[in-house]
Amino acid sequence: LFFTLEGPDGSGKSTQIRRLAERLEESGIRYLTTREPGGTPISDKIRALLLDPDNREMTAKTEALLYAASRAQHVAQVIRPALEQGVVVICDRYIDASLAYQATGLGLSVDYVRELNREATDGLWPTRTYLIDVPAEVGIGRVARSRGAGLDRIEQRDLHYHGRVRDQFLQIAGEEPERFRVLDGTRSIDEVTDAIWEDVRQFLNA
Ligand code: C5P
Repeated sequence: LFFTLEGPDGSGKSTQIRRLAERLEESGIRYLTTREPGGTPISDKIRALLLDPDNREMTAKTEALLYAASRAQHVAQVIRPALEQGVVVICDRYIDASLAYQATGLGLSVDYVRELNREATDGLWPTRTYLIDVPAEVGIGRVARSRGAGLDRIEQRDLHYHGRVRDQFLQIAGEEPERFRVLDGTRSIDEVTDAIWEDVRQFLNA
């Protein structure tokens, strides 16, 4: 079982993943939480390149390829081996984030980014993806308040960019209703956790 969480910056994914992990722990389920970009030593080095605010001249294609490279390593070294051992994997962001942030956000073709990532991951798609939806201003507002001046290279982009990212997430979710569950990220943290857990449990009992 491979679960991913997606959503605009400041949607609360990381908090939800921590809470999901607590519930899996209490239930005695073997699980692994991991995140993108990152998740392996090589992928973490690529993450540093991607998020460094000094890398202003990075082109859209370079950015898309670096995300795909980081993901290729992460899938081969961590995610696939865990899944093969029957471990439940929960990943903070995955291919859908590239379709939103790199394709639509930067004006690359969605088909190009999807194909690139299909190659990079040998076609590994999540069992279920939770999209925590918040308006761009709400998400970026939360990030700015909680982190002050320290926004990363992507977070520093303007609200139009983050608005396109959010719209694209909703669009992809609408195209694959069987894989996606969309949650309203402006609700309380507990309400969002309960909604995700309710859904996850069905897979675990199956
Ligand atoms: O998930 P998290 O918010 O920690 O992601 C770290 C940064 O990477 C964020 O600024 C996010 O917008 C960015 N990102 C991206 N494209 C992806 C995945 C993450 O721009 N495919």
